[in-house]
Amino acid sequence: MPKMTRNTARKIFERLSESSPEPQTELYFKNPFTLVVAVALSAQATDVGVNKATKTLFEVADTPQKMAALGEKKLGEYIKTIGLWRGKAKNVIALSKKIIDEFGGEVPQTREELETLPGVGRKTANVVMNVAFGQPTIAVDTHIFRVCNRTGLATGKTPLAVELGLEKIIPDDFMLHAHHWLILHGRYICKARKPECWRCPIVDLCGFKEKVMSPDQPKKEKAKAAKKSAPKKKAAPKKKLAGKPKLRATKRKAAS
Ligand code: SF4
Repeated sequence: MPKMTRNTARKIFERLSESSPEPQTELYFKNPFTLVVAVALSAQATDVGVNKATKTLFEVADTPQKMAALGEKKLGEYIKTIGLWRGKAKNVIALSKKIIDEFGGEVPQTREELETLPGVGRKTANVVMNVAFGQPTIAVDTHIFRVCNRTGLATGKTPLAVELGLEKIIPDDFMLHAHHWLILHGRYICKARKPECWRCPIVDLCGFKEKVMSPDQPKKEKAKAAKKSAPKKKAAPKKKLAGKPKLRATKRKAAS
């Protein structure tokens, strides 16, 4: 895939920004602390699933003090619909206590400090820095990773490689919202199983070779492939006619 130019990257973000000039996270949160909790809970879970649980949780616990007071067991009751909830409950209580003990009850603003919180990795730290504190960070999740590798915007085998590639190619004026535009694009158009290239606003700028240019294209291709790989029917072996040679011999005899 040829390397994408900064000019093409600019065009991509100009178009992605047209449909949603001020994109927001789809996770429900009330303040930086609830954002940290929501993002920590969202690992390997959908935003919709996390929002269902946090809507009632944040009514009773929207500060580190209230969350620590709630305790692991009670917190578990609010979040048990979310995958891996036991480990997440443990981390949320531990990070609440750490924020109280080491950061004066305020969510820290640097990546290094955020990453010291239990259950908070680079991706979560980047989301919090971006959404809560308005810093131009890129949190590479599964959607961004896929979109960037498909389009050629930033290719790499790891989320970190893609993140560093994006930092180099995204024009400064698009950095703040870039990760939201890419997430929304991956979630609703450049989907994992079937990218909807036929309605993609950046189709002419994308370097992906296997574009899906009509809604029923994969079906057709599947049917074609299935037909190709189906075992060919073997011709039924010809049944030997008992007594045939004898018959010939008889015929020859008769002829002579
Ligand atoms: S053209 Fe297809 S593969 Fe490329 S970004 Fe659009 S949806 Fe994704």
